Amino acid sequence: MSEHYGVRVAKSAGFCPGVRRAIDKALELDADGKKPVYTLGPLIHNKQVTDALASKNITSIDSLSEVKNKNATLVIRAHGITPQFRKELEQSGMELCDATCPLVKHAQDIIEKYASQGYDTVIIGDADHAEVIGLLGYADGRGHVAAAAQEADGLPPFKKVNIVAQTTQQESVFEQAAQIIAAKAETYVISNTICRPTRQRQSETMEFAKNADLVIVVGGKHSANTARLAKVCRELSPKTLLIEDERELSATDLKTPKNIFITAGASTPGWMIENVFEKVQLARRKFYYMPQIIIKRAWSFVLKSSFFTAAAALCLTYVAMNLQGIPVNPRLLFLALAFVFSLTGLNRVTAKTVSYVNTKLEVAFCLLLGAAGLFAAFTAGKGIFALTLFFWLLGVIYPFSYYLKIKKLTSIPGAKDTVTALGWAFVCAFVPAYAANIVFTNEYYLAVFYVTLLVFMRSILLGIGAANKDIMVSKESFYKAHGLRTTRFTVGLIWSAISAALIMLFIMGWNVRLVSMLLLGNIYTAFMAARCCRRPKPGSTLDETLIDGQFYILAALAFCSRFL
Ligand code: SF4
Repeated sequence: MSEHYGVRVAKSAGFCPGVRRAIDKALELDADGKKPVYTLGPLIHNKQVTDALASKNITSIDSLSEVKNKNATLVIRAHGITPQFRKELEQSGMELCDATCPLVKHAQDIIEKYASQGYDTVIIGDADHAEVIGLLGYADGRGHVAAAAQEADGLPPFKKVNIVAQTTQQESVFEQAAQIIAAKAETYVISNTICRPTRQRQSETMEFAKNADLVIVVGGKHSANTARLAKVCRELSPKTLLIEDERELSATDLKTPKNIFITAGASTPGWMIENVFEKVQLARRKFYYMPQIIIKRAWSFVLKSSFFTAAAALCLTYVAMNLQGIPVNPRLLFLALAFVFSLTGLNRVTAKTVSYVNTKLEVAFCLLLGAAGLFAAFTAGKGIFALTLFFWLLGVIYPFSYYLKIKKLTSIPGAKDTVTALGWAFVCAFVPAYAANIVFTNEYYLAVFYVTLLVFMRSILLGIGAANKDIMVSKESFYKAHGLRTTRFTVGLIWSAISAALIMLFIMGWNVRLVSMLLLGNIYTAFMAARCCRRPKPGSTLDETLIDGQFYILAALAFCSRFL
């Protein structure tokens, strides 16, 4: 995220790698569906995220006694635990999944190493924080905790001491306290274990908070690192607000400040920060004339309502009809629109249960459009109706598989992208071919091939944006399952396969006017895909527009080819 109209969003805001890793592990286990999944304490201090995890049956417990059936998996949080407690857990009979952040593990290893050499350990951090409790367990019974300089002053003298930091500690607090402890020791080691993501967050905050008239810190009120971030901001900026979500912002807060800086703790998902950013922009529109913001807001609504995607499916159906050389059938165009609208909407509601306010209304509207689509299918013939009903029900069940305990499908890497591609291929290419009685002809295979690959690529690209907004998807997303490198390679491969097929058709002289136009469209697709794969944090609205926009462009080009 960046700066718009005096509002800057911290680049480092959003889940830290340790938190993201722990959530991914829990989601993968849940998608696997082998055993119930428990976490020892909430995975992160963010109510919306923990509610969303609970809705997926990932249960947070405070003690082992809460689990009656020990045939379950227990996830150790990013904060880590003491070695003694780990032994206890290993004997509990439950399967353990260690999601301790590697950077916390690094701090544990340092403490263990020096403790084995007879060093005392002083941790500069919060004594009651889960991470610090876990770290103390590695100090071989010679551990101390000091929150800051004042408490460090009260510690006894040491012969040999290893001074470490809680990974989210404030740099200046650590340095000050470490100097005081070092002065009390005959031999000392200062191990600055503040993690890199925290340092980046702090240095960005220092740079921008001091020039801001208002700093908005987004995060859970019980999150230690968010509270620490807010404290730093209060020292630098005339006004700092700590909010859990955008509803806590009032218009008066946003009226006067010229420069606003938005940052967030390590346990705040990207989509929540985006919601705050949008609210701030909208509120400022009332004080400054910003037509761009109104347009952006309206456009964002069109995208979130799935209408843009549904109309993109209509466009792709038009292209597929042209590829198959069959007359354009408005009823089947509407069927594609309604089918994709209802299923995309239901998918979005499930994926973002945490970000949408009026979920029931949205579900009702999706079901209504689904029924309208089925009616269109019914009027097109019994066979089309039966097949559409079958695939539509499959699509409806897929996002709710968490609740129906059908979890195997979501554990398959890239399942979501594959299912989406097949669903679109069915409604955009198969249904028109079936209605025109040309299934299993060369034109039919070509259209299915073209639609499936294009939609598979689209779904992968959208997955990059969703992951970077911290929307909770597991390995069912190709990008989540395979990472950026393989995703880039696969997208390149798909694009090359489509290009090669079109070039071959052009050389063979098959429907040259249409093929030339689709080749032109493929150039746009190349730029759009390169942009989404290259940028580490795709901006949601623009990227979603560009990705689904390819189908509008292809339809326009296919339409133009008729007049060449
Ligand atoms: S704050 Fe740092 S150490 Fe803690 S979980 Fe996040 S990345 Fe890991």
